[in-house]
Amino acid sequence: MNFSSLFSSLFLLVLVTTSVTAKDERPNIIVILADDLGYNDVGFTGKTEINTPNLDKLAADGIIFENAYVTHPYCGPSRAGLITGRYQARFGMENNVSYSPYDKYMGLPLEQKNFANRLQEVGYQTSVFGKWHLGGAPHFQPNNRGFDYFYGFLDGGHNYMPGEVTVGGEGYFLPIMRNTKVAEFDEYLTTALSNDAARYIARSKDKPFLMYLSYNAPHAPLQAPQNFIDKYAHIKDKNRRIYAAMVDAMDEGVGRVVTALKDAGEFDNTLIFFLSDNGGVYPEEWLPTLDWADNSPFRRGKVALLEGGIHVPFIAHWPDKIAKGSKFKGLISSLDIAATAVALAGAKDGNNELDGVNLVPYMTGNKTGNPHQALFWRLEEGPNIYAVRTPEAKYMKQGLPGVGRSYFDMLADPTENNNLVDQFPAKQAKLASLWNEWNSKNTNSVLYQSWEYKKARNDFYDELHKKNLQQAKETKIDIIE
Ligand code: CA
Repeated sequence: MNFSSLFSSLFLLVLVTTSVTAKDERPNIIVILADDLGYNDVGFTGKTEINTPNLDKLAADGIIFENAYVTHPYCGPSRAGLITGRYQARFGMENNVSYSPYDKYMGLPLEQKNFANRLQEVGYQTSVFGKWHLGGAPHFQPNNRGFDYFYGFLDGGHNYMPGEVTVGGEGYFLPIMRNTKVAEFDEYLTTALSNDAARYIARSKDKPFLMYLSYNAPHAPLQAPQNFIDKYAHIKDKNRRIYAAMVDAMDEGVGRVVTALKDAGEFDNTLIFFLSDNGGVYPEEWLPTLDWADNSPFRRGKVALLEGGIHVPFIAHWPDKIAKGSKFKGLISSLDIAATAVALAGAKDGNNELDGVNLVPYMTGNKTGNPHQALFWRLEEGPNIYAVRTPEAKYMKQGLPGVGRSYFDMLADPTENNNLVDQFPAKQAKLASLWNEWNSKNTNSVLYQSWEYKKARNDFYDELHKKNLQQAKETKIDIIE
């Protein structure tokens, strides 16, 4: 071997060695999701009644999205849209998934990939903490849906106090799980989830990770440790006082995650998103006691397609890339989280099947304007409950008192106080045609709801009963004495 070939071999060896041992520089991605958080119940959207110093710091040091939306005004469908990065109506997930561990159809349809599947395929460690709500049967559970690690619960909500939760409990009293096994649960749930997420960060230094920290806070039941409630003794309304304590405890949990990132030396190279899955509760006529969240300046809240139900607090933080104190007015969606994660990780988007937009160029200031020219909603398959929003206007229909069919000029009237329905027929028709075009690629609901189950079960037994009676008649044997 002459000198030059020896040199090039050594050079190659160095290259190979370097590529094997070099740290993967792709960023960690953490998605922190609150549950039923009022738009105005964090400091960074304006109000200071509830202390959220950790979220406010992330907002101040990152970017606040001022026109950010979720895809649905309540939990399950909104979460399905978020983690798949596709409008959930594309695959018929229009309703909440109920926890039915023996029901092989009750969950996020299996052919739908989510951001964890996509990032797991390209070497990310993937984890989910907290509320799953996308199916209880084994094939729907997080470990079979792209997540390496799960600490949380499978149903749509959970009791927060450990003493009351036992093996054999149902609904909100189901055991807390770690992967597929019953796990320890010995502190306030929000804190337990935060601590487990912090510990996960501490042991995840080698590979980049995607973490989905899916709090059920501050969703009912209203429960918080007394020391948090005591901080809000000045709030007269008991429900509001406990709710404030729940938000405070969640913020403290976010602080624990931030500390863990700093301790691991990963804070600067981690993109953190924070948002709520829908608006805070609103005392609709049929549920007047749900009156503890503040969605102002928007009207109504959870369940509504008015801004109070779908326009959510939404921030991103990433010291390496996002300038401090950024604010962004363009239309964004929870759908964009998966698209952004996929782009950053170099993952596959499944032949462009994602409905979101990679937000990185907008967050870094390389691109301005509206990532989306229109956003869409439908409930119960439309056409009776729908909404479409462009940067300029919104056209919607929903049978809520005082709402109905509505058209709003979102530039002049972002809080939807002045219904201009049918006053701008050409613009309204354009919005309707955008919605129809979007809806033409959707699927009808694939999830049976509980009343439908009950009906199907009753029909089944009615039929069986008839058959049995007939059979009994035909095979009747008289006793011969
Ligand atoms: Ca929710």
